[in-house]
Amino acid sequence: MFATLHDKLNAVFKKIKGQAKITEDNIKDAVKQVRLALLEADVNYKVVKKFISAVQEKALGEEVLKSLTPDQVFIKIVHDELVNVLGGDDQSTKIKLNPIPPTKIMLVGLQGSGKTTTAGKLAKYFQKNGKDVLLVADDIYRPAAIDQLEILGKQLKVDVFSKRDEQDAVKIAKEAVQHAKSAAKDVVIIDTAGRLHIDETLMEELKNIKEAINPDEILFVADAMTGQDAVNVAKTFNEMLDITGVILTKLDGDARGGAALSIREVTGKPLKFVGTGEKLDAFEPFYPDRMASRILGMGDIVTLVEMAQDAIEEDEAEKLATKIQKKGLDFNDMLQQMKMIKKMGSFESILKLLPGFSGLGNIDVDESNFKRIEAIINSMTPLERTNYKILNASRKRRIAKGSGTSVSEVNKLIQQLQQMNKMMKKFKKQFSGKDKIDKNM
Ligand code: GDP
Repeated sequence: MFATLHDKLNAVFKKIKGQAKITEDNIKDAVKQVRLALLEADVNYKVVKKFISAVQEKALGEEVLKSLTPDQVFIKIVHDELVNVLGGDDQSTKIKLNPIPPTKIMLVGLQGSGKTTTAGKLAKYFQKNGKDVLLVADDIYRPAAIDQLEILGKQLKVDVFSKRDEQDAVKIAKEAVQHAKSAAKDVVIIDTAGRLHIDETLMEELKNIKEAINPDEILFVADAMTGQDAVNVAKTFNEMLDITGVILTKLDGDARGGAALSIREVTGKPLKFVGTGEKLDAFEPFYPDRMASRILGMGDIVTLVEMAQDAIEEDEAEKLATKIQKKGLDFNDMLQQMKMIKKMGSFESILKLLPGFSGLGNIDVDESNFKRIEAIINSMTPLERTNYKILNASRKRRIAKGSGTSVSEVNKLIQQLQQMNKMMKKFKKQFSGKDKIDKNM
């Protein structure tokens, strides 16, 4: 996710850090490099312009030059601007449930954008929050789309409303809402038809559905990998339907991030969720600040803990979060996390939420490696697990022998833990307020 943008921005930060003395010219150059990074990431040029002028104004203010840690203040400025462009602290990123159920959600977008998969993901999201959901297959053109939704419904044990012989999408939507009311459903999610391109007939149909059922949310589903095309299509859908928000899919495959960084600014509508994989639980509510931290490689402890909460007991998760943030990681945390990870999904996606992970270069995320790491930690004494500093040569040899691995593998694991803690400390310091910039400046 956003690997290219992350690498480019970090190269800029590294360069600033390398300067013996920071001058106005250095800052100007860094701002120029950030601009290039954004353009290369396929961010809409108007968005880049606004972004850069905000960064430039703040960065050339005295705060950066006067600061003892100008590079970190600069990163903070870029971070804050990323949060801004992604939506700030806008509360409309959340879905408000209608006090009179069912809450009606209409999903719209082009074919292949991930609409049907997203309908399933959204159903699962509400289901996890204790809501009774009805999925509606409202694509009268492609029977395969109905099949797909029915399969998802079976998988999730969620009811699916469909009418294969009906040729009127408006009628299906109306009947579905009626059915949801009589079945006392909390949420009804309507998966509408998509086309490969914007098409007037389809737009007309969507407008008529909107008029007939008066949805609480019209969410535009966009494929992040299509970059500015997704942004342009979102703009048209918004003009035609006055959408209430955007769901960006396939963020897992999006190295550049152009759509994610432009869509909010161009449409004026909030990003509400993101899809991060093909599986039904690869789906997250969207939080601008967390995403900005991920783009910059600062990790996203909050999302990590939330994912963990699904896998472990709640107070266990809270304890872990507090401990990681206060004291740093030890081998017990690593082991505990690996156990959770097995329940939570892919190793790589979770590691990326840890601060500093992306700064580690190529960690071997082969899941078979898991077993070796587990064996190494299991061969440590309780004291060694909580204090890796006591691991001398003879202890390392014993651990390697006990786990059937090698001393160099043990060393590698220790280094990884050290590195993660180092990065975490760094980011903690950076955001501890010492060099805090007033956002209203
Ligand atoms: P629709 O035509 O808009 O209904 O799109 P589908 O739901 O059928 O999705 C099209 C393809 O995108 C399928 O192969 C999905 O598995 C895939 N897909 C959907 N969302 C995501 C996502 O967040 N990440 C990845 N990697 N693939 C996704």
